[in-house]
Amino acid sequence: MNAVIDTPVSEKAAEKVAYENNKLHKRLCRLVGQAIGDFNMIEDGDKVMVCLSGGKDSYALLDILMTLRERAPIHFDIVAVNLDQKQPNFPADILPAYLTELGVAFHIENQDTYSIVKRLIPEGKTTCSLCSRLRRGILYRVADELGANKIALGHHRDDILETFFLNMFFGGKLKGMPAKLVSDDGKHMVIRPLAYVKEEDTTRYAEVKNFPIIPCDLCGSQENLQRKQIKAMLRDWEKKHPGRVESVFSSLSTVIPSHLMDRNLFGFTDLKTDGVANPLGDIAFDEEPCSTPAAGVIPLQAQ
Ligand code: SF4
Repeated sequence: MNAVIDTPVSEKAAEKVAYENNKLHKRLCRLVGQAIGDFNMIEDGDKVMVCLSGGKDSYALLDILMTLRERAPIHFDIVAVNLDQKQPNFPADILPAYLTELGVAFHIENQDTYSIVKRLIPEGKTTCSLCSRLRRGILYRVADELGANKIALGHHRDDILETFFLNMFFGGKLKGMPAKLVSDDGKHMVIRPLAYVKEEDTTRYAEVKNFPIIPCDLCGSQENLQRKQIKAMLRDWEKKHPGRVESVFSSLSTVIPSHLMDRNLFGFTDLKTDGVANPLGDIAFDEEPCSTPAAGVIPLQAQ
C-alpha cells in the first residue's frame, strides 16, 4: 500500500505563491514581447535607453527587457538611465547599487531641475509641466550622448487609458499615449514596451522582486487631481463591470475613422457612392448591438 505523505500546509502555500509568481513573470514577458512584436519596437542592433525613475514600473520594464534580451533571436543593447533631479532627500545611492548588482550598463545624469522649477514656478502652482519639459530635453541629449536610438519608458496599459480619458474629458481630443512614436524633436524613437501590461501586475511584480522603490513625491508636487479622478473612475468600473476597462483598451487598437467625425481622418466631404457592398458601410436603420444593453449593464449616461 502506498503511504500518503502529507505536505505541510505552509509548504503548500509557499508552492502556490511560487507558482503564481512564476505565472506573473511569464505573463509580463509574454505581454511585453507581444507589444514589442506588434509595434516593431526593438530591432537588431538597437541600443535601448531604459529610463529608470526608481518607481515600480520602470524597474519592472528594465527587469523584463533584460529577460527578453537573453531569449531574443536578435541582438540589442540596454543602457539604464536615471535623471537625478536633485529633489530633497533623493536617495542617490540606491539606483547605482541596484544597477551594479544587476550587471547592466547604466548612467546617472545629475541635473538640478528641482531648483530651476522651484525658482520659476510660483508657490502653489503645479510644477509638472515645466519639470517634464526639462526632463525630456535632458533625456534626449543623454540618449544622443550614449548612442541610444530607442528610448524606453515604463508607461503601462492603465497610464495609456488614463491619458486617453484625460484627453477626452478635459482636452476634447481622442488621443491616448502612443506605444511607439518619434519624439517631438524628431530625432528619437520613443517606445512603451509595457503598453499591454496592467498596473496591478507591475505593482505585484515589484513586491515579488522587492525592487528598492524610490518615493515619487519627493518634489512635493501633488498628483494631478484630474488624473486621480480618472484613476478612481477606472477602478470603479473594473469593480462594478469587470471587462469594461479591457474592452475600452482594446477599442484603442480597433479604430474605425468612418464612424467617428474627424474630417481629417476620413474624407467625408468628398465621399461618393460606388455601388460596391461594404460591411463597414452605414447600416442605416439597423439597431447597433450596444443600443440594447445586456441585462445588468447600465448605460453610461444613466450612471
Ligand atoms: S511630480 Fe514632481 S518630479 Fe514628477 S513631473 Fe511633477 S514636478 Fe516633476
